[in-house]
Amino acid sequence: MNDVSPEEIGKMRTQTRRLVDDLLLHEPSFSRSNCVPAAVDQALRELGYYGMRIPEEFGGMALGMLPTVNVVRELGRLPPQFWSFLRVALGPSSKSIVRHGSAQQQHRWLPAMAAGDCGVAFALTEAQAGSDLAAMRTRAARTSEGYVINGAKTYISNADKAGLFVVFARTAADAGLKSSISAFLVPARQSGMSIGPPMPTMGTTLDGLFEVAFHDCAVPAEALLGAEGQGFQYAMESLNEGRLNVAAIAVGMGAFALDLTLEHVRTRTVGGQPLASNQVVQHMLADVATELHAGWTMVLDGARRIDAGEDASAISAMTKIFCSEAAGRAADTAVQLFGAAGYTRGFQVERIYRDVRVLRIYEGASEVLRNAVAKKLLAQGSEAL
Ligand SMILES: Cc1cc2nc3c(=O)[nH]c(=O)nc-3n(C[C@H](O)[C@H](O)[C@H](O)COP(=O)(O)OP(=O)(O)OC[C@H]3O[C@@H](n4cnc5c(N)ncnc54)[C@H](O)[C@@H]3O)c2cc1C
Repeated sequence: MNDVSPEEIGKMRTQTRRLVDDLLLHEPSFSRSNCVPAAVDQALRELGYYGMRIPEEFGGMALGMLPTVNVVRELGRLPPQFWSFLRVALGPSSKSIVRHGSAQQQHRWLPAMAAGDCGVAFALTEAQAGSDLAAMRTRAARTSEGYVINGAKTYISNADKAGLFVVFARTAADAGLKSSISAFLVPARQSGMSIGPPMPTMGTTLDGLFEVAFHDCAVPAEALLGAEGQGFQYAMESLNEGRLNVAAIAVGMGAFALDLTLEHVRTRTVGGQPLASNQVVQHMLADVATELHAGWTMVLDGARRIDAGEDASAISAMTKIFCSEAAGRAADTAVQLFGAAGYTRGFQVERIYRDVRVLRIYEGASEVLRNAVAKKLLAQGSEAL
C-alpha cells in the first residue's frame, strides 16, 4: 500500500471534484437519453481510478482506504450510473482477488480490472438469501475436473456488461455459514450461465440490476477463489471496506444536496425575502451540516483503522448506518426546501432523493448492521468499538 501524504490526498480530492464538476455537465443529456456518455468512463480510466485499490505490479495505484474514501466522497456527487463499475471495483470484488486470488488468477484479472477493461459483478444475493445468507441455495458440486454450479442470483449490479463474476455458492450442504460457502471466479459468457432482463429500479433510470442463473455451469478447479469453504469470510471482509465506501458516497451525496439547497435558499424569495433569511430554514441546514460532518469524521476514522490493519467491522457498520441515514435526511431536507421544484424531474435534488435511498439497503441493510454492532457490543463491551 502506498503512503500518501495529507497534501497529496487534498490534491486528489480537488482533482476529483473538478472532474466531477465537468462530468456533471453530462447529467441533463443522461436524464433525457438514459445513456451514460462514453466520455465519463474514459475520464475515470485516464485518472487510473479503477486501480485505486489494486497493487502497482498489476497496474494499480495501491492506495489505502484514506485516500480512497476522499476520492469516493467526491464521486458520490455523480449519478451512480456514471461510475457503477468503478464502485464495484473499489468495493467487494477486487479486494477478494487481491487478498485471496492465486498468482494465475491475479495475473489474469487484475491488470484488466485496474485499466477499467474488465468490469466485475459480485454475485452473492439470492431471492431467498439477501440479509440471510444462511439460506443460500446455489450449489457448486465437485467433479473430477472442477465444479458444477447450479442456482440463481438476483439483484446483481452490472451483470450485463461484466467481464468477470465473483460467484458465491455452497460447497458443503451441512456445514455452517463460515465453512460451507465458496467463491468462484467465473468469466462472462461461461456456458451454463445466463443473464435475465434488466430489473427497473427507483434510482436513476438506467437499469443495472439482473438475475444470473446457473444451469450445470462447469468451471475448472482453478476458478475457486482462495480456499474451499471460506467464501463467506471473503465476502464479509470485502464488505467491511465496501460499507465504508458506501458511507463516503452517502456523505458525498448529502453534501451535494446541501450545496444545491444553500444555493437555492439564497436566491429563492418568499414574501420578498430570501428563504435563507428564515431561522427555521437556517436550523434545518445546520442540522444537515452537523450530521454530515459527524458522518465524515466516522468515515475517516474507519479508513485509518482499516489502513492500520485493525478489525473495522463494527465501525464500518456503524458508519454506513449513520451516513446513509444522515444522507437520506439531507436529501429530504433538500426536496422540502426546493418545494415543487424538488419534486420535479430534471432537478438534481429529486435525483439524489431517489438515489440515496438504496444506500440503507445494499451491502447490509441498516437493521442487519445494527444487529451486528449490538452482537459485538454485547460480547465485548463498548471498548471493543
Ligand atoms: C441497487 C442494488 C444493487 C445491488 N447490487 C448487488 C450486487 O451487485 N450483488 C449482490 O449480491 N447483491 C446486490 N444487491 C442486493 C442487496 O445486497 C440486497 O438487497 C440486500 O442484501 C438485502 O437483501 P434483500 O433485498 O433480500 O432483503 P431481505 O433480506 O428480504 O430484507 C428486507 C428488509 O428486512 C429487514 N431485515 C432483514 N433482516 C433483518 C433482521 N435480521 N432484523 C431486522 N430486520 C431485518 C431490513 O430492513 C431489510 O431491508 C443489490 C441491491 C440493490 C437494491
